[in-house]
Amino acid sequence: MNINNVEPAKQSVVAHYQPKITIDSSSLSTLYRIHAYGIVVLPIIGLITAVLLALNFGISPIDFSLFLILWLLSGLGIEVGFHRYLSHRSFQTSTPIRVLLAIFGSMAGQGPPIYWVANHRRHHQYSDVIGDTHSPHLHGQGFWGRIQGLWYAHFGWIFDLELTNTYLFAKDLLRDGAIAKVNQYYYVWVFLGLALPAVVGGILTGSIIGLFTGFLWGGLVRMFVVHQTTYAVNSICHLYGNRPFKSLDQSTNNFWLAIPTLGGSWHNNHHAFPDSAINGLKWWQVDLSGWLLKAMKTLGLIWDVKTISLERIEAKKTA
Ligand SMILES: [Zn+2]
Ligand SMILES: [Zn+2]
Repeated sequence: MNINNVEPAKQSVVAHYQPKITIDSSSLSTLYRIHAYGIVVLPIIGLITAVLLALNFGISPIDFSLFLILWLLSGLGIEVGFHRYLSHRSFQTSTPIRVLLAIFGSMAGQGPPIYWVANHRRHHQYSDVIGDTHSPHLHGQGFWGRIQGLWYAHFGWIFDLELTNTYLFAKDLLRDGAIAKVNQYYYVWVFLGLALPAVVGGILTGSIIGLFTGFLWGGLVRMFVVHQTTYAVNSICHLYGNRPFKSLDQSTNNFWLAIPTLGGSWHNNHHAFPDSAINGLKWWQVDLSGWLLKAMKTLGLIWDVKTISLERIEAKKTA
């Protein structure tokens, strides 16, 4: 529906029910584009710089540790915090923990939590049909159609000036004071995610070079890896891999992405059972996020953890 065809008095009411809202102000669209290019291009520049330096000087154990720690914090912030908790409510927890999860997820630089959740819920509602936030299947047939689809699902959708309507898809979070506050200070958390490894690297090495390489490995390279792994779930895990479960989409499981995506690549399992806190449904399906949630449940840090009964699993099997 074109909202301009609706009589002015009713436009704001109708806008609430549009899945997507077009940015029609030129200053806003310029700002949005700058943001989109920033989050895509800056980590790539950081990666190239870090690799060139590493080829000449190697990687110090401090830089590698900063990369690993910040990758785990922001990666789990996305998969456990933004995805399994905020998007799907697959468990319950206390306010300090949900705020921490939302802050760690924000440090990944994939957009503020409410924006991320709204995009993801729209993806589930329209999976691989028109209206999906980032399906790789809606860009034509043949080789080029597939390449275009892969690009759109991985990166292209980020530049789209039609934004998901958060009023429609994430009203609960807009009303959640603590999460709305984290959302409001999004750029502070992104800055923290870049500044922390820089400061720690600088202090531990006592040098400006240590500060710079800490910023590169714990900040930009780590951000690049978390971006690529999350976006690989959107692109690769809707195109290649196997589908043990029936689902109304083309989602797939990919074993080789299980560790880098922290369990997100059991994506056919996830689309079949989106309310499950655990993505790895078999013992060999490595699901680091699911294992962390099981440990947190044992420690009493989370509760009402949703899991799937054997009957439900059997009923959805494709073979
Ligand atoms: Zn999906
Ligand atoms: Zn999901």
